[in-house]
Amino acid sequence: MQTHYTHEAPKQGTPLPQALANINAKVLDDGTLKKLVDPDIYYAFERCRTTGKPMDKKDANALATSIREWAQSKGCIGYSHWFSPIRGPLHGEKLETFMAVDFETDQLIVDLTGLELFQTETDGSSFPNGGLRETHEAAAYMGWDTGSPPFVYGQTLYIPSAFVSWTGEALDQKTPLFRADAAVNKQGLRLLRHLGDSKTEKVVCNVGWEQEFFLIDREKYLARPDLVATGRTLVGQTPLRGQEQSTNYFGKMSPRVRRYLDEAREKMWELGISIDCAHNEVAPAQHELSPIFALANLAADTNILAMEVLRDVAFDHGLAVLFHEKPFAGINGNGKHSNWGLNTDTGANLFVPGETPHENRRFIAFVAALLRGVNKHGDLLRCGVSSAGNDHRLGAQEAPPAIITLYLGKLLEEHVKKIPAGGEITGYGAENKYIEVSSPVADIKANLEDRNRTAPFPWCGNRFEFRAVGGNQHIAFPLAMVNAAIAESLKHMCDEMDAGKEVDEVIRATIEENQGALFGGDGYSQELYEFAAKSELFHLKSSPEAYLQLTSDKNVRLFTELGIFNEREIQARQNVLLEAFATDLWVETRTLLHILQTRILPVAMEDARLGENSGFTSKLIDKKRDAVQRLFGEVDQLSEAFDGFPEEDPARTALYAQETLKPLMESARAVADQLEGIVDRRLWPFPTYSELLHAHQ
Ligand code: ADP
Ligand code: MG
Repeated sequence: MQTHYTHEAPKQGTPLPQALANINAKVLDDGTLKKLVDPDIYYAFERCRTTGKPMDKKDANALATSIREWAQSKGCIGYSHWFSPIRGPLHGEKLETFMAVDFETDQLIVDLTGLELFQTETDGSSFPNGGLRETHEAAAYMGWDTGSPPFVYGQTLYIPSAFVSWTGEALDQKTPLFRADAAVNKQGLRLLRHLGDSKTEKVVCNVGWEQEFFLIDREKYLARPDLVATGRTLVGQTPLRGQEQSTNYFGKMSPRVRRYLDEAREKMWELGISIDCAHNEVAPAQHELSPIFALANLAADTNILAMEVLRDVAFDHGLAVLFHEKPFAGINGNGKHSNWGLNTDTGANLFVPGETPHENRRFIAFVAALLRGVNKHGDLLRCGVSSAGNDHRLGAQEAPPAIITLYLGKLLEEHVKKIPAGGEITGYGAENKYIEVSSPVADIKANLEDRNRTAPFPWCGNRFEFRAVGGNQHIAFPLAMVNAAIAESLKHMCDEMDAGKEVDEVIRATIEENQGALFGGDGYSQELYEFAAKSELFHLKSSPEAYLQLTSDKNVRLFTELGIFNEREIQARQNVLLEAFATDLWVETRTLLHILQTRILPVAMEDARLGENSGFTSKLIDKKRDAVQRLFGEVDQLSEAFDGFPEEDPARTALYAQETLKPLMESARAVADQLEGIVDRRLWPFPTYSELLHAHQ
């Protein structure tokens, strides 16, 4: 199990084909670094990485020189710290050149100092920071995340980094994840000790993401102001052929898409992104990639980098890639299932039932902690996956609902539910299941449990799959929320054990109190809503509602006790998230008004006039006139609501966007889409869904 920092390049025995020969060529994995520097420097670096204490200046300079020389040999002329501000962009960069002046000789030299490698100072006030930084107190720092290796992209050496204010407060996506990882490690170890494990020294969180995206022709993308400005289509009738036939999933890729993906994957392999799975997704023009799982912060970085590679390579192929959670209405959107699990430095996977009673008990204890995390902190999990984009997906018959429950599979659920009443804690998972097909196909060894693709957080035999994460999200924040939720539960259970309760008694009580979050049914059905109401689960329908929970008493206590956020940081993050939501909807409304007023209404009017002047009579001609008239009405209303957008308070603006703008946008769109179906195609001012989704295939 991965408890170390990098996946290293394969040892080359038999010659590798060209596409695989460059695996990791552009990433400074640990194996490469070890060869590059003296053992004592590597040792000092390792110590810095595990303790967080800076290397001494001489060693850091030596390390930086070796890294610079390596980067130069790969064509780099400079470096940049690579970081992810809360509000985006998904990653930021500030390009620096390997250049300095030797003041004794006044000569320019090629240089990278240890200090420059480890940190850089910048202006923090220009990033939305929710009030943590005023323009007159602006300094912020990026600090190298030594758990994520530097890599070469173009002529630049990128150094993955955390981003904090001069006062040490988190301004980015990753810092909360580090802190939440640390909390899981601390509380996880406590539970392991209570379970009699004295050997384990580290509990780590591993993640494997599955990135979904659409690929469309770049020319057509540029012809859609809504896609360019907002990442999604704000108008558009469902395509003539959508996903009704369900033949796209795992279907063969078109040659153009295949050439593109082959090139993108090769680039990713060079960069240390271990993509091992690629396939067509459910909707037309939709695809998915996923790598082998890695430590959570590394997985978060490889995901952002993979998104960047996908975007850049698309440019070279005349394609555009869409990560938005709902680029097209009426067909599936983009998710980013995040497979999440806990492992130890002793090689144990804490979500595998195992074979011995000790392993069985440990598994159930961690499942109980997660169950409690989901039950008590479903609000945080919902918050982690909230965004204006993802709200279109959650609960929309294609993605898990906005209610977060845990799915264990039929047998495990039965086993767990018997525990409170005195059922055995151990004993689950002893048998194997085989499916007989028919010779010559050999019997298939199957998972004990079936899958449930309607569940937001199902167990997959050795990990849980957080399926609610959105395609355009930075995964660090949702993962931090999952880790926060389980860490608090582990802490609670361990506190009880410290106070003298028996381990089994605590496990039983935890399951008993929290089994209301276990849902084995169809997550797309009405049954879930009734179940959620009965179990008193959080049902936060929109992102603003979810964000407002961040500062509840419960959550402030949780974040501060676990050291994930201080109060100012929570408040600031809430403000940034609310502002981001409101801004996204503000831009969408503005774009929609632009489209309706300057593009759709003029052509629809002309089309209606042509009909009326044609001398023919028809219901269709009446319908056109009527639709144009209604669209005028919609535009008037939307435009008035847009002008009334409140400015001061982040909560008010977000709720206004949600409650006032969003419904008006939807009703205006409905009329525009109706017009699209009847207006002369030669006049219609955009490529249609059919053209966007099928033309390049
Ligand atoms: P699916 O069939 O659900 O689409 P995929 O095979 O596409 O699944 O992706 C599964 C992901 O889960 C991969 O990234 C894989 O590396 C990851 N994964 C497998 N085992 C673990 C684990 N123990 N912890 C975290 N992630 C894991
Ligand atoms: Mg998948």
